[in-house]
Parts: sequence; C-alpha cells; structure tokens
Amino acid sequence: MERILKKFFELTANPYGSLAEWKEKNKKKVIGCYPMQLPEEIIHAAGMLPVIIWRSNEPVTMGHAHIAPFNCGLTRSFVDDAVKGKLSFLDGVVFYRMCLQAQSLPFIIERNACPSYMEYLYLPALYPGASIRDYLIEEFERLKKSLEEFGGQEITVQSLNRSISVYNRNRRLLAEVYALRREKPGLIKGREMQAIVNSSMLMPKEEHNRLLEELIPELKKRSPADQKVRVVIYGGLCQTVQPEVLDLIESLGMVIVDDDMYVGSRYFANEVEASEKPVESLANRYLKKLPPCPTKGDWETDWTDYVIEIVKRNKAQGVITMLVKFCPPHLCYYPDLKRKFAEHGIPEVLIELEHEVISLEQTRTRLQSFIEIIGGV
Ligand code: SF4
Repeated sequence: MERILKKFFELTANPYGSLAEWKEKNKKKVIGCYPMQLPEEIIHAAGMLPVIIWRSNEPVTMGHAHIAPFNCGLTRSFVDDAVKGKLSFLDGVVFYRMCLQAQSLPFIIERNACPSYMEYLYLPALYPGASIRDYLIEEFERLKKSLEEFGGQEITVQSLNRSISVYNRNRRLLAEVYALRREKPGLIKGREMQAIVNSSMLMPKEEHNRLLEELIPELKKRSPADQKVRVVIYGGLCQTVQPEVLDLIESLGMVIVDDDMYVGSRYFANEVEASEKPVESLANRYLKKLPPCPTKGDWETDWTDYVIEIVKRNKAQGVITMLVKFCPPHLCYYPDLKRKFAEHGIPEVLIELEHEVISLEQTRTRLQSFIEIIGGV
C-alpha cells in the first residue's frame, strides 16, 4: 500500500519528469486537457495520453508578463510553466470556453508556447432545448476528427467504447475508495485522497486501475485514525488544494468524511453509457446536471442543495468552503451558498486558496474558531 501511495505522491509532486519519461518509453503523444469537463475518452481512443492540466509547485515569475495577477492560480501557473518551457513535452493541449479566465488561455499559449496541436471547444451552458445537445455533439465530433487527423489513427465506435469502459472502471474504483472513507472516516487522509484522484488525472487509466485494484484491499485492512468532528469540504474548482491545508484540518481534530471538490468526487462522478453512438453518450454525461457546476450556467439546479445533501447524508457537523482566489464562478455563487447553509443551520467556514502564498497561520485561526463552534454541536 505504501508503495502505491508513494507512487501517487511522486507523480503528483512532479508530473513533468514522470510524463516526459512515460512518453519517451511508450512513444505516444501526451495531450493536456484543461479542466473540468473535457471528454478525455476521445483522446484516449486516438491512442494518446490525456492528462489534466495541473498547478505547479512554483511561484509564478515569467508568467507575470503574459497573464494578469488577478487570474486564478491554475491559469497563472499554467501560463508560467508554458512560457518557461516546462510543458514542452506536451504534444498538444485542448481547451474549452469554461470561464472568463480560461477563455484567454489558448491565445496566450498559441503565441508563446505554440504546441503542435491545439484545439479550442465551445462547450455550451446547460440551457434547455435539443439544440444545445446537437451543438455539443458537433463540438465533440469536431474534436474527434481533429485528433484523428493529428494522430493518424481512426477513432472507431469500438475503440471509443473501449476507452469509455476503461474510464468507467476508473470511476467505479475511485467511488469505491470514497465509499471506504465514508464508511470509516479517518481511514484515508485528506492529502492521500487528493493524490489518489490527482494521479488518475496524470497517468494512463489502465495503470491507475491496476494500482487501485491493489490498493483497495490494503486500505480495507487499515484502522481509521481517531478523529472526532466530521466535516465536508467543497469547492476547489479546477485545481488541487495545498496538502498542508488538508493536514491542518485533520491536525485540529476534524475528519473529512466526504467532499465535493474537482480533484475529488466531482472528477469521477457519472459514468458514460456504452452505446452504438459513444460520442452522444459522452455528450449525455456532460449534460448531467449533478454535480452542479457553477461554470455551466445552469439555473435550474442549485449547487447549495447538492452540498447540503452531502453534509446531511454524511452526518457532518460542518462544511469547509475551499474557494480558489480569483475564481469568479465560485465567488459569484458563494453568497447564495453561505446564506443557505445558515438557513439550514449548517456551520460553514471559508478558506481562500492562493497559488503562491497561503498564510497557514491565518487559516489555522479560522479553522480553530470553526471547530470551537462546531465541536459542541
Ligand atoms: S473556473 Fe475558477 S479555478 Fe477554474 S479556470 Fe475558471 S477561474 Fe480558474
């Protein structure tokens, strides 16, 4: 078990070296996918390795000349990595119009890093009506065609369904790990859980599946740490949270029973149905309204209700908001989330996450006050 977790930690701490090595060894193309909704299965079926774009561990330096300092950490860090040449091993990048900040990236990357392959999709908001679905399918078909041209390999119904099945297997295994944590809170540390999901974004799913199949029986033999106060964390759109923050939550006597984070349960939510029209099945997954995504512009489904349901289902005593600094989709939603948590009597605390500097002392103080409030609930 320790060997597998170590592998996950090493990969997530240094994806650059591991991916460049993988590419050299396997002679396959590696394609960066901008989070959070791209159909990785199409890239996989084209015989390439899709990886989800990550936030580096370095402060932004050269990137400052290309992107505004009030952009979120992921966009700044990604541009910084690109202009420093750290991403030159990527054969291509796929973006889509997700939020204002992500929208400007393709232009910056094209001008300064110029990968051999770049695609920009216009994935729609979830407005009602069949035309949205038709349009989405067309966009996915366009991606499929351009990958076929770039890779010189046809993506057949069979190959796409095979990829879907590998990805579904990964989703099921990750869901199993999450079920274990819900059953025995404290069994898996917050930083371990994040590395488990994050590594799935950065390695071939076949290998990740094999590792999870080995890991799960070992995790079951573990004894959960003795923690008292049950909390749910949510937010963290597009990027990882500093593991130190997760450690801090646990060191103060709280246990994370469940989450609604992107590098968490959102990543593996919803399987794709195998069918004779796999592109349509991928579109159907995108169009699912749960988990609600504040970048999808759906006014019928309420994100707060979804988080409240997770809190209640897990008998959690409080909820911790992980808000990525300068993330408008989450920021705009936050007042409503906060108001509804209060209406339901759910204690909530806001932790703002910044890419470079995070004052752990300030975070500690906030969390200490929070646990004082909920400890007696
Ligand atoms: S959704 Fe938020 S975290 Fe993601 S790219 Fe946009 S601003 Fe950044």
